[in-house]
This record gives sequence, C-alpha cells and structure tokens, in this order.
Amino acid sequence: MLVLNDVARQYNNKAAVSAVSLTVDRGSFVGVIGRSGAGKSTLLRMINRLVDPTAGTIAFDDIDVTRLSGKALRDWRARCAMIFQQFNLVGRLDVLTNVLMGRLNKVSTPRALLRLWSEEDRAIALSALEQFDIAGLAAQRADSLSGGQQQRVAIARALVQEPDVILADEPIASLDPRNTKVVMDALLRINKHYGITVMCNLHSLELARGYCDRLIGMSAGRVVFDGAPELLTDDV
Ligand code: ADP
Ligand code: ADP
Repeated sequence: MLVLNDVARQYNNKAAVSAVSLTVDRGSFVGVIGRSGAGKSTLLRMINRLVDPTAGTIAFDDIDVTRLSGKALRDWRARCAMIFQQFNLVGRLDVLTNVLMGRLNKVSTPRALLRLWSEEDRAIALSALEQFDIAGLAAQRADSLSGGQQQRVAIARALVQEPDVILADEPIASLDPRNTKVVMDALLRINKHYGITVMCNLHSLELARGYCDRLIGMSAGRVVFDGAPELLTDDV
C-alpha cells in the first residue's frame, strides 16, 4: 500500500503540489486527472523520487520513500516503473535490448555492466513483447517504430522489471485514438493480470472513466476529487 501524507512540492517558492494526502491500495488502477499544470506529473515523479518533495512523507508498505538514498533508492525505483509521454526508449538500440534494460536490476552487476543477458532474460523480454503483440519487432531499432508501438515497448520494459507500481505520466498524450486504446489496454492488462498497481496521469476524463477504478482530480496542486469514476460529474 502506498501512503502519501501532506505531500508538497514548491518550485521557486511557488507551489506545484500542496498538502496531498492519499492512500493507494495494491492492485488498483488510479487515474490522476486535471488540466495541464495541475501538478499531476510532479505528484507522480515524487513517488519514485525523480522529484523530491519539499514537505510531507511518502511510504510504501514499510519503506519510507522520502528518506531513501543510494542503493535503497535505486531498488525503490526498480519497484515503481515509470512510463513517459515520450516513451524514453534508446532509439538506436533494438526493441529486445530496450526491454532487457528493464532487467538490469535483476541481474548481477558484472553481467549488467557487460550486458550479458541470459537465455532466460531474453525469453522473459520476448514473452513481454508477445503479450503486447509486438514480438515481431524485437530486432528492429526502437526509433523505427510508431508511437503506439514504442509505448508498448516501454510498457514491456516496465513489466520485465517486475514492479509493484507503474507510474504512467500522460502515456497516451502523443498517440492517436487507435493507439491510445492499444496502450491503455496494455496498462489494464498489466493491472488485472499481474495485480500491479497503476497510477496514470490523463487529460481525458472520458478515457479515465473507461479504465480506472478510482479517480484523483487535481487542480492548482491540490486534490479536488478522490473517488469512484461514476461519482465525478463535472470536469475538473
Ligand atoms: P506536460 O505536463 O504537459 O507533459 P511537462 O511535464 O513537460 O508537460 O511540463 C508541465 C509544466 O511544467 C509546463 O507548464 C512547463 O512549462 C512546466 N515546466 C516544466 N519544466 C519546467 C522548468 N524547468 N521550469 C519551469 N517550468 C517548467
Ligand atoms: P501537470 O502534470 O498537471 O501538467 P506539473 O506537475 O507538470 O503539472 O506542473 C505543476 C506546476 O509546477 C506548474 O505550474 C509547472 O509550471 C510547475 N513546474 C513543474 N515542473 C517544474 C520545474 N522543473 N521547474 C519549475 N516549475 C515547474
């Protein structure tokens, strides 16, 4: 269980996120919605400490996420995979190698440094690609793929990390409607099939309603709605 208590972040004395307290149950699919600048991205990034909170605490089970550093912080980041709007693949590397990057924390350091992947690692990566119908692209350069394909590779990379939580920051903002569905379906599959908690920033309330079992509405850095999607009537 992920527990945020009075979490805040300021940039140059200006609040990006203010006094956010919430509990995210294991296995839930939470949509964070709100206009651009509402603080959604800052909120997600504080959870895996890409951004440090200026106040408050974040805890996951018995881990005090806000106090982690060094190896403990790297271990935590491996447990909460991040998905970005711009996919963040290594474009000049092939798809399978990009997915294998998600296994870096699973293999011994010398093997990771030498990129000596075992047959088992390769099989796991390939199986992740198969689940999202892109195994046929394994040998292609990542930058030769469409946006929807690249985001599925990013999701496969997150999956082989075997995370507890996936933090998806506007994962479909660069995609057309067809790829939007493919990518959201992939996130839903991970959530339902593996029980991985998903927190997903979205602009579209309609889309959030279709996929999430709980919505958090943000406005000007604050939580202005928190509940079941069907309870949210107005645009936030
Ligand atoms: P989006 O949330 O639309 O995906 P970003 O996360 O890149 O876009 O940025 C969100 C907001 O934060 C934008 O309004 C952007 O101008 C602002 N922002 C991002 N980085 C900085 C920065 N280094 N300095 C000031 N504002 C920033
Ligand atoms: P959202 O994801 O909802 O678009 P953000 O979390 O990106 O919102 O931004 C919240 C606020 O924090 C905005 O006012 C934005 O300009 C500001 N902000 C975000 N990142 C930075 C940054 N790196 N430096 C300065 N201001 C930032």
